[in-house]
Amino acid sequence: MTQQLALVGARIVDPGQHLDEVGWLLVRDGRIVAHGTDADALAARAAESDAPLRTVELPASWVLAPGFVDLHTHLREPGFEGKETIASGARAAARGGFTTICCMPNTNPVIDSRTTLDYVLARAKGAPAHVRPIAAISKGEDGHELSEMAELVEAGAVAFSDDGRPVHSSRLMRLALEYAAPLGVPVVEHCQDEDLVGSGVMNEGAVATMLGLRGWPAVGEEVMLARDLALVRLTGARYHAAHLSTAGSVDLIRAAKADGLPVTAEVTPHHLLLTDSWVAGERTGPLAAALAAEGITLEPGIRYDTNTKVNPPLRTAADCEALLAGLLDGTIDAIATDHAPHTQVDKDCEYGEAAFGISGLETALASLLTLAPTGKLPFETLIAALTSRPSRAWRLNAGTLEPGAAADIAIFDPDEAWTIDPERFASRGHNTPLAGLPLRGRVRMTLLDGVVVYDAADEAGKTAGTGEAVR
Ligand SMILES: [Zn+2]
Repeated sequence: MTQQLALVGARIVDPGQHLDEVGWLLVRDGRIVAHGTDADALAARAAESDAPLRTVELPASWVLAPGFVDLHTHLREPGFEGKETIASGARAAARGGFTTICCMPNTNPVIDSRTTLDYVLARAKGAPAHVRPIAAISKGEDGHELSEMAELVEAGAVAFSDDGRPVHSSRLMRLALEYAAPLGVPVVEHCQDEDLVGSGVMNEGAVATMLGLRGWPAVGEEVMLARDLALVRLTGARYHAAHLSTAGSVDLIRAAKADGLPVTAEVTPHHLLLTDSWVAGERTGPLAAALAAEGITLEPGIRYDTNTKVNPPLRTAADCEALLAGLLDGTIDAIATDHAPHTQVDKDCEYGEAAFGISGLETALASLLTLAPTGKLPFETLIAALTSRPSRAWRLNAGTLEPGAAADIAIFDPDEAWTIDPERFASRGHNTPLAGLPLRGRVRMTLLDGVVVYDAADEAGKTAGTGEAVR
């Protein structure tokens, strides 16, 4: 049966159409009908249909934005269901305001065949987020033989990547770009020169030396990015650099874009906000500085906290600044979480032995909002980097409140204070260096195709809607 839903009274923000106004938004049959500020206009639009109208009044201090789009999510299923499942990852997405998540293929089996991709899509049916699979560049992500790329795109792959590891062979990368070009999807690289990085576990530099940990140098990322950009220049194929972490990488992408190369790039919240000093328990960098400006001093963390271990590693304050500058000037297109959930066993060990990764879907918004009051990351840029910009980069047809679009919506209170408590995550991965931090900005409600899939007013951590249907 047809239904109509009017969301009334919140600040409606959609950077893709330069929209920022307190008003109403009307949803019918899972799609956005219209938005505006005039109550009579809402009544008139609602009267166009016989369908019953439900009106939800929202505080004017709350923000209604397009549901967030994540270009980089690890859902771990099939194969690593102890870390995450498609259902639990999608619930985490809904709690974080994400309605479209592009999942990486480093599962077991790897998403390198139509069978596995179909399996992922079947498991994602009815989940509280749209799951858009990224298929592997090489069979088994072993870097030797290309996957059946045309077939995978036909089956629904939105991009190709061997993420978790780089494409070591320049020959194979060239082939991948040549095959992907006519398919209209980007090739996504995890830039890591394995010869240079070796067994590095944290940023190569003074902190690593002090802690006695093996370094993962910035140049290990930049060398591979530079190689790839040369191959993009040769092939003309669309290319996307995952999780940029260094100032030098930002410069490379900036120059490539200036030359007109079809490249896009993403940055994670943790690379924007945290530095390698966190590995030593010293909390410096943009997040700590922003909280300090509000009078909040963070207690020192623990040394060798494996929750700070991530690939690529947390870098220096100068890198954070360069990444932010790249985001602001459009060099970096999107903020992506690189949500990488792990079990406690994966992290409860020596630093060198621990798994790389941060569970990021449920903390992304609040951590990034710390920068808003500092003026360093304008609110509109932040929302654009979570919605219209990632959608445009990969042509995903998401991240918008335009009439006719799917009613995928994130509603959040940018001022609500809360303490990060991983035990309350919907994600099975509780691995975050932000545990215990007092942040502000909380998702109140998430809608997917017009259906409320998360409502913070319900019991904390539970999602309503169809999410539970995924077994
Ligand atoms: Zn990666």
